[in-house]
Amino acid sequence: MPIYDFIIIGLGTAGSATCMTLARRGFRVLGIDKHRPPHAMGSHHGASRSVRRAYLEGTAYVPMAMKSWELWRKLERDSGRDLLVATGNLTIGPPDSPAVAGFMASAQTYDIPHAVFNASEVLKKWPQLALPDIFVAGLEKEAGIVFPELSIKTFLAEAEKAGADLVFDEPVNRWSEDHGHVQVHTARRAFEAGRVLISAGAWTNGLLELPESPLQPKRVPVHWIEVPEDPSLRLGNFPVSFWQVPDHERLQAPKNHTEFYILPVIHPSSQMKIALHNKLADCDPMTLDRSVFPHEVDGIKEMIGRFLPRLRHCPITSEVCMYTMTYDGHFYLGKRPGSENVYGTALAGHGFKFAPVLGEILADLMTDVSSEVDIKMFSPDRFS
Ligand SMILES: Cc1cc2nc3c(=O)[nH]c(=O)nc-3n(C[C@H](O)[C@H](O)[C@H](O)COP(=O)(O)OP(=O)(O)OC[C@H]3O[C@@H](n4cnc5c(N)ncnc54)[C@H](O)[C@@H]3O)c2cc1C
Repeated sequence: MPIYDFIIIGLGTAGSATCMTLARRGFRVLGIDKHRPPHAMGSHHGASRSVRRAYLEGTAYVPMAMKSWELWRKLERDSGRDLLVATGNLTIGPPDSPAVAGFMASAQTYDIPHAVFNASEVLKKWPQLALPDIFVAGLEKEAGIVFPELSIKTFLAEAEKAGADLVFDEPVNRWSEDHGHVQVHTARRAFEAGRVLISAGAWTNGLLELPESPLQPKRVPVHWIEVPEDPSLRLGNFPVSFWQVPDHERLQAPKNHTEFYILPVIHPSSQMKIALHNKLADCDPMTLDRSVFPHEVDGIKEMIGRFLPRLRHCPITSEVCMYTMTYDGHFYLGKRPGSENVYGTALAGHGFKFAPVLGEILADLMTDVSSEVDIKMFSPDRFS
């Protein structure tokens, strides 16, 4: 049976980056995926992922986000590929909304260059965006987009260059651990390693085999608006925007809100991406219906009519992606409770931007090196 230092189950976002990092550190690494990443069956497809540092989800993420930006740029230099393009990022909502307050806290605490606009200033700068009068928009100037498919290809190419063995189109069915070793079984064969990472995205939940799982896969309908030719809507000219809209009619004192995001057109496509970020239905990745339902399209059309009214008559196409949510919306990174040598990840719907730093963090964790960034809040033990 082939023996490795580490086996990585799932070579998508977290898995491909960790595989690269461990192989570069000189370990014997095997990566296995049931498909051939990048692909459109998990959580990483769809041409673009936003990258920002003034992190509205909490100031604790900012040091990681800063490190990740540096590492994206380093990966570009190492690989000779353009992966990250700055385009600006707007956080939009009422001034007292958790999103705007979170953005401001992160930007001010870490001195991240930013500006705040009222609704009419936004309309002047980006005439397609229609904000209710009481809304504001926090702009992080040097935020942008990474290309997820090209990024994963790059992590895997760099992993192979550093000596990792990669196996594709072969699902892992089960694993077992005893006496300091872990065996990983596919339908055809078995492999052994000192430690194993389960980074299987929406399938992590099943593979971790926990009696009570804190992870919940969600179906994420993603919609593409076919926009008229207009260079001002393109990546580099048009910002990413994240919206938090109170459900309350008067748009004040938000307790419940709808969150969605809009990403610019990536030339030569003529499509702008829009998707809901919350209020997502639970799903089982094994039986996921990948058709998009009429009520999902109607819901997004309503948001377009309200907040992108100039684009309300544009045709829409849709597809389905998945998130793996935790109860608190934060990442799940670390040793599986009850295991000595099996680790797990879940990225709660906002992990792509952190891929290179997650590779470093997971490689540190699995080699008992203390991490440069504080990751206590992501520990699986918080759910015990
Ligand atoms: C529509 C959408 C938009 C998003 N936008 C952003 C954004 O703008 N910014 C951001 O930072 N994040 C964003 N995210 C979140 C981010 O993309 C995810 O958090 C991230 O891709 C999850 O990575 P992962 O490694 O957990 O899963 P994946 O990338 O899906 O990788 C899991 C891999 O495991 C493999 N696998 C599964 N089961 C097995 C098995 N049994 N054996 C072997 N291999 C297996 C799969 O084939 C897959 O390749 C978005 C997500 C979605 C769905």
